[in-house]
Amino acid sequence: MLTRARYLEAMGIDVWRRRAAVPEHQTAAPTADGNAVPAVAGMIWEELQRSVAACTRCELHRGRTQTVFGVGDAHAEWLIIGEAPGAEEDRQGEPFVGRAGQLLTAMLFAVGLKREQVFIANILKCRPPNNRDPQPEEINCCAPFLERQIALVAPRIILAVGRIAGQNLLKTSTSIGKLRGQAFAYGERRIPLVVTYHPAYLLRSPREKRKVWQDLLFAKRLYRESMREVPA
Ligand code: SF4
Repeated sequence: MLTRARYLEAMGIDVWRRRAAVPEHQTAAPTADGNAVPAVAGMIWEELQRSVAACTRCELHRGRTQTVFGVGDAHAEWLIIGEAPGAEEDRQGEPFVGRAGQLLTAMLFAVGLKREQVFIANILKCRPPNNRDPQPEEINCCAPFLERQIALVAPRIILAVGRIAGQNLLKTSTSIGKLRGQAFAYGERRIPLVVTYHPAYLLRSPREKRKVWQDLLFAKRLYRESMREVPA
């Protein structure tokens, strides 16, 4: 098994520099086929899984190999939310696989989290063609599934990875650069939410990894604070 230091190295973080102060800076429409949509709000986990797997609410169902519901601990304290399945996720039925997934795993491990300890989901459960950005109508169709996942997982903290996840969870058009470094509160339960860059972006812009490290430390601090506020 790789050590924590190895994961940090994989992220491009110079482990020895952590002696220096690292700033811990700073939240029923019809289907595409015209069929009736089952109510999602009251579903239990297994019903939700079945409903997603059979979903034809938007046109994306036509091009998918399979839906990508999410993976991990259904009662996790950390909920990681990305954008949408890519080609490999569509093939494997699991979010964040491939190089970006490995980097996400490394990012999580660097703050003491194993992948199986968190729950990882996406804004969309089906792959957009050619990996294009999700369309607003697709996001609207799929939103009840994610909202129900959030309600059932009931995490102590949400980490939104990437612009699409951050903007849609927070219902804002603010740039990801401005969303980073802030503590948001999601929903009625006011779950702490932190926005950071998507690992696929980090693969293209490795110099931004240090910012993600800062975001992760910030999220961990908020998580610890939430533990103090609500004793387990
Ligand atoms: S993206 Fe979501 S709403 Fe659209 S078909 Fe897939 S599961 Fe249904």
